Amino acid sequence: MAEEKKNIIAVIGGGAGGMTAAIFASLDGHSRVVIFEAKDAPGKKIKGTGNGKCNFTNDNMDLKFYRGEDPKFAADALKRFDNEAAKLFFKKMGIRPKEKNGGYIYPNSEEASSVSAALRLTAEERDVKFIFEKVREVKKAGNGFVVNDRRFDKVILACGSFANMKDRNEFNGYVLAKGLGHRITPLYPALCQIRCAEKFFKTINGVRTEASLKVLEDDQEMAFEKGELLFTDYGVSGIPAFQLSRFCAEAKAKGKKVTLKINFLPDTDISEVKREVDTRLTERAGKGRNIEESMYGLLNHKLNFVLLNLSGMDPTGKISGIDEKKKEKLIKNLTDLTLEVTGTNDFSFAQVVAGGVDTREIDEETMGSLKCPGLYFAGEIMDIDGTCGGYNLQWAWSSGAIAGLAASGNDVPEDFITFINGRFE
Ligand SMILES: Cc1cc2nc3c(=O)[nH]c(=O)nc-3n(C[C@H](O)[C@H](O)[C@H](O)COP(=O)(O)OP(=O)(O)OC[C@H]3O[C@@H](n4cnc5c(N)ncnc54)[C@H](O)[C@@H]3O)c2cc1C
Repeated sequence: MAEEKKNIIAVIGGGAGGMTAAIFASLDGHSRVVIFEAKDAPGKKIKGTGNGKCNFTNDNMDLKFYRGEDPKFAADALKRFDNEAAKLFFKKMGIRPKEKNGGYIYPNSEEASSVSAALRLTAEERDVKFIFEKVREVKKAGNGFVVNDRRFDKVILACGSFANMKDRNEFNGYVLAKGLGHRITPLYPALCQIRCAEKFFKTINGVRTEASLKVLEDDQEMAFEKGELLFTDYGVSGIPAFQLSRFCAEAKAKGKKVTLKINFLPDTDISEVKREVDTRLTERAGKGRNIEESMYGLLNHKLNFVLLNLSGMDPTGKISGIDEKKKEKLIKNLTDLTLEVTGTNDFSFAQVVAGGVDTREIDEETMGSLKCPGLYFAGEIMDIDGTCGGYNLQWAWSSGAIAGLAASGNDVPEDFITFINGRFE
């Protein structure tokens, strides 16, 4: 009997999206799947995710956690292969999910390496072949492709991005996509620290505090976050700053004026803040405390010191005689401190890249290229970025599963739960 002619698929990039795509592409046994990985092992970036614990999805799944020039592009994929599908997929591969901090999902092992290993082992069990070689060129050849001098019927581009790379020039994923006719939208660092102009940051370097944070572009509010801030010697870090960083990077690149507004007492009514400042800066005067001492216990003492200075008060000075204008200034600085944003840290500090292959040139139901038949995309290389919380890996699993099925000529199911239950023992 003649041997069945297999559909030969090259997956470029053995990361989160690429390994998922390869696993789904190999499910029906009619395709031969090869992963090209530039590093000496697959899934190396996964091992560093979630501080080594891998926050691989989130129970609060919503399109509002995704950005890009056209974030609605991601809606269909995230609905079909949602967080429940991601948890089931990983359960089937031996990863028991564990929920932490109100919806954040990690492997019960709390080892990101177990997530990476589960994908690699499952791919190997499905006869996916790994070639540890950087892809330098992908050429269209008739109905197929030539990838590093080997012929393939289909190609899935899953190269990720240059986020967190020391030398971004080593990354050629966008060059490969451009070579196949795709447009790359402007690229910005996302999920990284924000840099500010003020000189006082050295004094509060390392201080953590709960606060709310707003970013304004030309005085127009763009986004709001609340959570634990971490001050650095040049600006603001911590999850709220990470979430807002892509807005700052994009607005600065467009030459806009960008400001941050911090409220250090976000859960306290302004009248209550006024009363508290009044109490601290008047009633205690008789007890012999100086201004700084009277503020002890409100915020971290280094932060108190800086805010007093910014309000025109000498922290070592006496309370008696502080004029109302300075008190009002302190209340404003406690609840609405204005910082001038100079930019963000660069791509080598970023967890993800905002921007990528223009999603208007991709079919949202298959992840297939509308420019180059036979080409598919998975993961971060596309112009979709998620906020902190497992949303970027979820995008890699969702888009990877769909690209893999579509590239292997299979229908993409509406309901991945039934599909996964039927296909993974
Ligand atoms: C420090 C850090 C922490 C993070 N934590 C989280 C988290 O907890 N939760 C979350 O959801 N997201 C997190 N992310 C983001 C997440 O890791 C990525 O969005 C996700 O890995 C993207 O998957 P991907 O498959 O598109 O790309 P990657 O996982 O980066 O995989 C791409 C692969 O392609 C390979 N490659 C690139 N070019 C070529 C080429 N030319 N030839 C061959 N191979 C190539 C690369 O070596 C890489 O292995 C974190 C990122 C960082 C940097």
